[in-house]
Amino acid sequence: MLGGFDVFVVPMNSCISRIVRCLPVAVSLLCVGQLEAAEKIKALIVDGQNNHQVWPKSTVMMKQYLEETGQYEVIVERVRFLWNSGREKEWLPRAGARRGEEKNDPIADPDFSPDFSKYAVVVSNFGWNAAGWPESTRKNFEKYMADGGALVVVHAANNSWPEWPEFNKMIGLGGWGNRSDKDGPYVYINDKGEVVRDPQPGPCGKHGPQNEFVVTIRDEEHPITKGLPDFWMHSKDECYSHLRGPADNLTVLATACDTPELQKVGRHEPILMVIQYGKGRVFHTTLGHDTDAFEGVGFIETFLRGTEWAATGKVTRPIPKNFPTAEKPLAQKFEYKEKSQPAK
Ligand SMILES: [Zn+2]
Repeated sequence: MLGGFDVFVVPMNSCISRIVRCLPVAVSLLCVGQLEAAEKIKALIVDGQNNHQVWPKSTVMMKQYLEETGQYEVIVERVRFLWNSGREKEWLPRAGARRGEEKNDPIADPDFSPDFSKYAVVVSNFGWNAAGWPESTRKNFEKYMADGGALVVVHAANNSWPEWPEFNKMIGLGGWGNRSDKDGPYVYINDKGEVVRDPQPGPCGKHGPQNEFVVTIRDEEHPITKGLPDFWMHSKDECYSHLRGPADNLTVLATACDTPELQKVGRHEPILMVIQYGKGRVFHTTLGHDTDAFEGVGFIETFLRGTEWAATGKVTRPIPKNFPTAEKPLAQKFEYKEKSQPAK
């Protein structure tokens, strides 16, 4: 029995001594881990209903782009009733959000109520015709933004919720959803580089066929665009035009021309914008129609720079060595990683 006892005790002792020896290392690793987690920017992506079928995939793409910088901890919150998730349904579980139920129409989720206050920035991947959020959620979001929150609006996220006045102020300019001159002027840049606010009546939101198009930087000093080439070719995408909205405290950072007809009349559409809403910062990109656009290096870089600026007021990213030129777009094929780690 004694031998048995010894056999029992010795490993226990060695195990305990190993734990004791390792404890300082384990504690310090734990501390580093906690420190890193504490220093990460907490980002929330909200989605679930979008007329763009890419949405389940583009949420995962944006999540991974952010995580690969090593700067972010990203959570996805999804409404319960999904719309248009079929084409990319295999991507749904990869967001790490709740499962949701696909419906034929966008149906409001009465329980959708993220705690926005936990996040430094909220990215909207909702789109046209998304059902409205509960009134209490809208009020919480308005307060979060007015108190210094941050919002990133991607492509059709500027189509959502035309009936929500404070949201229209946050996005500055919107498209479709029966928006019209009642919602604000058209805003574009003319051939002289002047910002035009045109109140004439007319529909809101247009775009020509998907195409590669040149992006022109209009503000070379803003942290988001500082250092980017003045002209660069974006990957195949839609170029939104004829957006309108309150456009208060809105700065146009970059423009592009949609169709040749609009080019002839010298109409340059805002495609990258920032908006001040109370103490909150908004980065608004109209880019991001489908996978091609989300794989464009120009999209990825401006999305990352815009999100960091919205979250922190600064941009610490260096300009990548490989960036599209004025003549040639540059794409980065998306490769999903089971668990996104910071890029080496
Ligand atoms: Zn689109």
